Amino acid sequence: MISPKLVEVGRHLNIELITNAELLELRGEEGNFEAIIRQNPRYVDLSKCTSCGECAKVCPIEVENEYDERLSTRKAAYKRYAQAIPGAYAISKRGTAPCKATCPAHVSVQGYIALIREGKYREALELFKEAHPFPAICGRVCHHPCEGICTRGDVEEPLAIQYLHRFIADLDLESEEPYVPQPEEERYERIAIIGSGPAGLSAAYFLRRNGYKVTVFEKLPVAGGMMAVGIPAYRLPRDILKLEIGIIEKMGVEIRTGITFGKDITLDSLKADGYS
Ligand code: SF4
Repeated sequence: MISPKLVEVGRHLNIELITNAELLELRGEEGNFEAIIRQNPRYVDLSKCTSCGECAKVCPIEVENEYDERLSTRKAAYKRYAQAIPGAYAISKRGTAPCKATCPAHVSVQGYIALIREGKYREALELFKEAHPFPAICGRVCHHPCEGICTRGDVEEPLAIQYLHRFIADLDLESEEPYVPQPEEERYERIAIIGSGPAGLSAAYFLRRNGYKVTVFEKLPVAGGMMAVGIPAYRLPRDILKLEIGIIEKMGVEIRTGITFGKDITLDSLKADGYS
């Protein structure tokens, strides 16, 4: 449809535009049609997109441009064409990659590796840490099921997914200002977590990112649970463990060691102290 007509259709009060959609079936007769349409997700909020194009400028993913007979490439964040109505951008996604689906933390593997390829190490780490608080620790001790399923392994070797997140994490921990995620808004509720193993610290990390005030109570004299007393130091150096736990503390999580639940504190005492 050429542009002036398109604008007219877009403004017509009796016409609803269903974009990014395909017609699966059309049945009925003139004046009484029934259409079955599948609308694909746009992954962009139409009410918020101002069509500024900033997302496409920073998008690290290049895909074939189907609007140019695949002779050129476009970004995965894209606008179909200059006069498209509505003028909002969309994001091409091909479902969940096997590496992401297999990672127990559901890390966006393709995303952080694409950012590493662009040299955007900090952004890669920030993306990783949206799903996982321990890129340096798991960069050493995870059994990396993501690499076992990496489709690159079908043609040569799987990508070094684990070592890549270890690399960005180590780089960050050695920097002058390591990345410390901050909550978007503060909440008043206080949360107590019993045990500072990987599960307890991960819960503390995500609750703090969501603005809760979190205290972790640990029975042992050191934080980290099995990471600190189960995994040998030659597999997981203790300085790395302390640095990544330190980031969680810098986020505002309080870790109190040497406190046994059921002896030093109880559910009633925690409630009396204002924990939710
Ligand atoms: S190596 Fe990293 S990305 Fe792979 S499964 Fe483990 S934590 Fe997830």
